[in-house]
Amino acid sequence: MLVTVSGSVARAGVYEAPIGVGLADVLEAAGWSAETDFILVGGYFGSWVTRQDADGRALSRASLASSGASPGAGVILALPNSACGIRETAEAVDWLAGASSGQCGPCVHGLAAVAACVAQLASPATAHRADLERLVRWCSEIEGRGACRHPDGVVKLVRSSLHVFASEVEVHRRGRCSGSYEGWLPLPLTGRASR
Ligand code: SF4
Repeated sequence: MLVTVSGSVARAGVYEAPIGVGLADVLEAAGWSAETDFILVGGYFGSWVTRQDADGRALSRASLASSGASPGAGVILALPNSACGIRETAEAVDWLAGASSGQCGPCVHGLAAVAACVAQLASPATAHRADLERLVRWCSEIEGRGACRHPDGVVKLVRSSLHVFASEVEVHRRGRCSGSYEGWLPLPLTGRASR
């Protein structure tokens, strides 16, 4: 399989690896930083996993299933610990919401609302428990209600970020942030970060 590795690694690029290769082995080959505790597996319709989750797991659907992830298109991104995972995710979700083709109400309106809510949580100035509860409810209401799987992919990304970065969300709710927005998740120049 072809695996695209980017983020906090010394040798970002596309790697050819045997199916079932260890997730940590691919990241090792790419020279991932020791200061990396979170990895996005499966691209923007994928899931965040922790470094501990990556250890001992193969880059296969079966091996990743219990962590809620799947290889997807084989895109892996290592996030350095200096970056805030929620803020990084919020930018990607904002772009994904804007990528809706505008045909299905739950996708058009639901993803816009989800993106706004993730943005609220991403800012220590605006993060509230009510946003978290709304997000969980809206993700359930949107899932499976589009004509294609675009909204489901976004919901998957949002859910995994709320799970993996739960402690950071709590830090935001107390008005602080442990990291910063560094733009590790590549986006076309149409996302909020470029405005
Ligand atoms: S669910 Fe798919 S088809 Fe429907 S608006 Fe969203 S992207 Fe378009």
